[in-house]
Amino acid sequence: MTTVRGFLAQAARPAPGFPGRCPIQEVWTLGCHILQCSLAQLLASDAAEPLHPEDEARWRELVLRRHNGEPLAYLVGHTEFWSLPLKITPDVLVPRPETEILVERALSQTLARGDRCIDAGTGSGAIALALKKESPDAFVAACDRSPKALAVARANARTLGLEVAFWAGSWLDAIEAHSCTLIAANPPYIESADPCLDGDGLRYEPRDALDGGTDGLTAFAALIPGAVRALRPGGRLLVEHGYTQGPQLRMLFKQADFGDVATHNDYAGHPRVTEGIWHG
Ligand code: GLN
Repeated sequence: MTTVRGFLAQAARPAPGFPGRCPIQEVWTLGCHILQCSLAQLLASDAAEPLHPEDEARWRELVLRRHNGEPLAYLVGHTEFWSLPLKITPDVLVPRPETEILVERALSQTLARGDRCIDAGTGSGAIALALKKESPDAFVAACDRSPKALAVARANARTLGLEVAFWAGSWLDAIEAHSCTLIAANPPYIESADPCLDGDGLRYEPRDALDGGTDGLTAFAALIPGAVRALRPGGRLLVEHGYTQGPQLRMLFKQADFGDVATHNDYAGHPRVTEGIWHG
């Protein structure tokens, strides 16, 4: 019978013919998920225990699916964003560390009582929930076109005890004119023809959350004029975008009369977030 230790010894080896990898840390995470135990238990006390054949089969299947490129968050049903544990399903994009830059920038100005913040196209709720966690006095609302994504976002808000108002809708269509202090969005921005959409990881994620149309900028063409209508004078728009799109985004912001337009790099040093202030 295979022991936990025996399984670990062979599971992280590269799987020939599979496109992805499952590094040992991820084999551990999958093991904790299957065996419902902590990492300490997995690696220490239980390591010499024989694995139940059913557990072994389920664990092996998840490791193979990971080798096949399926995101870890979908396999275990959760991930962490801004230190918040979030439930994740294939109905939502897996939140990325680079999106934390957007949150950091949004929080570079204090959000207080009376401030109204919107996360447009919220997916799992990641941005809205991080903003509410850090700015409990501000009003935070979030929308998504996908009812299934909204169900995930609402479940996350409930579990975390964070009060965010959710509505089903496209971008900023339903927002009252000149009512918002801050609008943040991580819209789809990959060009439709980019082969990476069918590559490792991304091919498992909702196409609607990734495919930004022929030029990758379709969502921004709705978001930027929408923000001009929805922002109060002095309000800010922040968007995540592809690392080559900074110059185009800055131009679109300026054409829409945003001031103080700037692009910020992500942790990998790639231009990733553009922001601007609408002075009214
Ligand atoms: N950051 C994601 C990626 O390139 C894309 C997210 C998006 O399109 N909003 O993997």
